[in-house]
Amino acid sequence: MRVHARDNVAIIVNPEGVAAGAEFPDSLTAREAIPQSHKIALAAIEPGQPVCRYGEIIGYARRAVEPGQWVREEMIEAPAAPDLDTLPLATRPPAPLPPLEGFTFEGYRNADGSYGTRNILGLATTVQCVAPTVEYAARRIRAELLPRFPHVDDVVAVTHPYGCGVAIEAPGARIPVRTLQHISLHANLSGQPLLVSLGCEKLQPARLFPPAFAGQALPVLEAANVIRLQDQLGFAETVAAILRAAELRLIQLDRRRRHTCPAAGLVVGLQCGGSDAFSGVTCNPAVGFAADLLVRAGATVLFSEVTEVRDAVHLLTPRAATPNVARALIREMRWYDDYLALGQADRSANPTPGNKRGGLANVVEKALGSIAKAGSTALMDVASHGEKVTGKGLIFAATPASDFICGTQQLASMNLHIFTTGEGTPYGLSLVPVLKVSSRTALAEKWHDLIDLDAGGIATGAKSMEEVGWEIFHRVLEVASGRRTWSEHWGLGNALIPFNPGPVT
Ligand code: CA
Repeated sequence: MRVHARDNVAIIVNPEGVAAGAEFPDSLTAREAIPQSHKIALAAIEPGQPVCRYGEIIGYARRAVEPGQWVREEMIEAPAAPDLDTLPLATRPPAPLPPLEGFTFEGYRNADGSYGTRNILGLATTVQCVAPTVEYAARRIRAELLPRFPHVDDVVAVTHPYGCGVAIEAPGARIPVRTLQHISLHANLSGQPLLVSLGCEKLQPARLFPPAFAGQALPVLEAANVIRLQDQLGFAETVAAILRAAELRLIQLDRRRRHTCPAAGLVVGLQCGGSDAFSGVTCNPAVGFAADLLVRAGATVLFSEVTEVRDAVHLLTPRAATPNVARALIREMRWYDDYLALGQADRSANPTPGNKRGGLANVVEKALGSIAKAGSTALMDVASHGEKVTGKGLIFAATPASDFICGTQQLASMNLHIFTTGEGTPYGLSLVPVLKVSSRTALAEKWHDLIDLDAGGIATGAKSMEEVGWEIFHRVLEVASGRRTWSEHWGLGNALIPFNPGPVT
């Protein structure tokens, strides 16, 4: 499968790979056995000459490559990352696509104007110390109270590793604190969680919800909604207090019903994890097509993962709606370059052994495939780490690429998550449905009870990109309306891990 006319490598589609001597219709012969999703040279490549995929340079040949040879990771020298000082700013923002009218989902309308895709009782927490206690209480609530409230989907202990033992005034602390502020007021918690605090922690309830948040957060900070463990008489009474408060909130939540909501109420977070060389030609562009449909329907689409955008940033800054949006994107790239440099690393630290086994030579090839998720519309805005996105259209929300940290940060804004994977991961989140899309049919068949949608048919020609893109779009509306994903079916909610670049004390 060759992606672009300029490419001098292609990837092997056959599930069993190709044997040495295998002949292709265009008279190319494989010089050696090459596994599925790995690269074959389409032409001779001299040492130092570019290796092209997606019409872009993914690296330079370290030695001479013959046509039909397996082009392995160690044969390619990665190029330098695009220079952030010379990028084109908003030079060719795409014209808006025709609006898609009339698409809706059955969701929950919240007082703050947001839309829920689930009706969940949230037990928000200020600090990790209370996490096991709150998880214990959540298990009791689920077993003893929830069956009486059939219109409530779940009870979730919103626990995390943050809240104390940190330099809470340091600039880096702003990121985990605002991430937790927004998650605590999540649209799927109707913006009104209970709040469980220890008492002596750095992240006091009033710091989690400071006056700037007062409009939204005051109901949360009413005494009836805040349980401070150090005020309680022992463990059993603490749990009983949480259960009493939970029952009152469940009575309110159980009165809520789904209503027809515009598709514009969706905030869809995109992410990839366990990517392979197919991700960039099947699931990611199909999700990109669905992203364009969502944008046309008025929704918000977030793409993230700084280290997977960094090497393709020269393709994104021209797409920015304004020079300021392009500058904001560059600001996020520069911030992360500095962050990595502080840890004596760079973006080449991103690819995993699984990525490489899956045929991805380096972070450049991975990034070119990753940004296919962002579709083709103009980049409307950029949010910094943990900021809540309020705009519509395609938005870059800066996050690390780590699946569970990216997902946690996107939860500051998103009410539905699309996750693409090639190698496979059972990833899920407790607060939003996670729709998993596979890059290869073999994965969808092997993991028939974990993968929600298969984009592998694009590689074999069984389906077109547009067909799979529409399939994803329609499934998004169904899932937003209550159809459960596999990760919800099995109750797979990964831990919430806010990104903390600040010091631990
Ligand atoms: Ca990821």
